[in-house]
Amino acid sequence: MAHTPLPSARDSMEQDQFLTILSREDALARFEAALFPRALPSERRSLAGALGCALAEDIVAPIDVPPFDRSNVDGFAVRSADLSSVSEAAPVRLKLNDEVIACGIAPEKPVLSGTATSIATGGPVPRGADAIVMVEHTQPTGPRAIEVRRAASPGQFVSYAGSDIARGEALLRAGTLIGSREIGMLAACGIERVSVVRRPRVAVISTGDELVQPGQPLRPAAIYDTNGAIVTAAITENGGDATFLGAIPDNEQQLESAMRKALANSDMLVLSGGTSKGAGDVSHRIIARLGKPGIIAHGVALKPGKPLCLAVCDGKPVIILPGFPTSAMFTFHDMIVPVLRRMAGLPPRSDAKVAAKIPVRIASELGRTEFVMVSLVEGADGLIAYPTGKGSGAITSFAQADGFLKIDALADQMPAGSETEVTLFTPHVRVPDLVIVGSHCTGLDLVTAPLARAGLVVRSIAVGSLGGLAAAKRGECDFAPIHLFDEKSETYNTPFLSEGLELVVGWRRMQGIVFRQDDKRFEGLSAQDAVRAALADPACIMVNRNQGAGTRILIDRLLGEARPDGYWNQPRSHNAVAAAVAQHRADWGMTIAPVAHATGLGFIPLAEEHYDFALVKARKQRPAVQAFLDALASDESRAALARAGFRPA
Ligand code: AMP
Ligand code: MG
Repeated sequence: MAHTPLPSARDSMEQDQFLTILSREDALARFEAALFPRALPSERRSLAGALGCALAEDIVAPIDVPPFDRSNVDGFAVRSADLSSVSEAAPVRLKLNDEVIACGIAPEKPVLSGTATSIATGGPVPRGADAIVMVEHTQPTGPRAIEVRRAASPGQFVSYAGSDIARGEALLRAGTLIGSREIGMLAACGIERVSVVRRPRVAVISTGDELVQPGQPLRPAAIYDTNGAIVTAAITENGGDATFLGAIPDNEQQLESAMRKALANSDMLVLSGGTSKGAGDVSHRIIARLGKPGIIAHGVALKPGKPLCLAVCDGKPVIILPGFPTSAMFTFHDMIVPVLRRMAGLPPRSDAKVAAKIPVRIASELGRTEFVMVSLVEGADGLIAYPTGKGSGAITSFAQADGFLKIDALADQMPAGSETEVTLFTPHVRVPDLVIVGSHCTGLDLVTAPLARAGLVVRSIAVGSLGGLAAAKRGECDFAPIHLFDEKSETYNTPFLSEGLELVVGWRRMQGIVFRQDDKRFEGLSAQDAVRAALADPACIMVNRNQGAGTRILIDRLLGEARPDGYWNQPRSHNAVAAAVAQHRADWGMTIAPVAHATGLGFIPLAEEHYDFALVKARKQRPAVQAFLDALASDESRAALARAGFRPA
């Protein structure tokens, strides 16, 4: 009995393990030390199948390329000595041999002094000949002779055998990444199969009771498995041979059996989720039983990505990525890609980097290396990097970002105006033609659609109305979409404009009360009566909006002093309000008509909100700005806005 650890002792051990947080550098060094050096198994692959692999052997050229002396032009094979004294004034007549050397024809007759043989580009140079004269520099004279008016030097227009690739020459070195150019060299030498480092076989498992695969219907409280698809693709991108084994529920037995099976058939196992300290999080407990040395790091000073778990089980890397997709992606790229590429025999990634300035202060947690995704826009003197992160749970920030910056573990912030280095997600920056920073609205996508079709890159960064105004004042965007209500003047937007900004009228969004269509309490009522009815029923729960939202002002006016159940639930978007009501977490709230209709909710109109644009005057003449103004005024956009439930102004 003394050898059976008590549950409490086991728990404290695990917590301990998680609390020992390693620095990013330390964790990576220990992980690599446990895995390398190692033998990299190789396999023979056809040229097409070798694309993207690392060559496992040195390749020595087995033949000369070209394999024979070859003509580089269409013309005549000659003896240069016959033409040594030729000039325009003193042409030489050569007798034509009874042979035409096309590509693929081996010559049979020698070129004797005073003769020439007709030859095509790529034809083998016949015996006796040592130069080619271009057909343009000759003239036929009689049926079987030519006249040449230019001297020819020995070797003129001849590519000698082996001049491109010489037999016995080292063609490609082991470790070379095979791309289309390398494949071309191998094909030119007649090589059909090569030995390459075998792609590491990587099994991918998502964990979580809540996960549903894309393509399947979403049950209540479930989410789509994002990591499975991300991780599988990222493994393929970095030289691995990925097999996705699906999402496994948080069940220790089921997961252990899936992990053992996966590991038996692969060189590496990547899981995601279940690495936090939550009660359902079991994967890290299983790893300890899978092989030696087991867990190397559980908890790394990364943000996002602290719960990352790195293990080596009998020589094979086993990784648990954090559950949040953005965290999973960052930790995968930062900590797993270097190891995967080494196992695939590939060189480290060489990501492109650019210098940029940050417009706003970015707070950072002391002691953790922090990655911040950014969107790049063009400022007055160089690139500006806008943080786009919506927190570690957000996946869209990846799609909208151009790259990321890194804040050192020892820094607690990056001050506004700092110069920093941005690692790009793609090899080149494409600075957007039109930059829109402010409050987001689905109507915006309808207006920018024609610009996108015309090939303009439109970047819209959602930072809210006030954030947009600040960006516009600093001249970092073309437009700031705003919907700010001034209580004093009871007007929208205009009172908030400052020097250098001008108002471009956008559209109106009808705000009103949303409720479920089958809820009889609200049927046929005005907004005021609907709120009265809600307040009269203590079982009726509301969903509010955040302080500062224009919609919140309307709600507060309707409520007066009342603080019904749900008042403190204050989401930050129109969509979140609709979702709360649709999912029965609340019974009523206030949102805009297009969102209510898209969610299939009942809607009682109350007041129109003005969604307009603060235009940076200094940027008004830019072609993309003009294109946006044209699009905004076009019948096409106005019709599209109206169809979606907006009222173009
Ligand atoms: P966990 O580490 O399992 O506690 O997960 C942390 C968060 O990430 C939870 O909100 C999970 O629902 C979410 N999550 C875990 N796995 C996935 C996945 N494969 N795709 C999308 N979200 C996930
Ligand atoms: Mg989970």
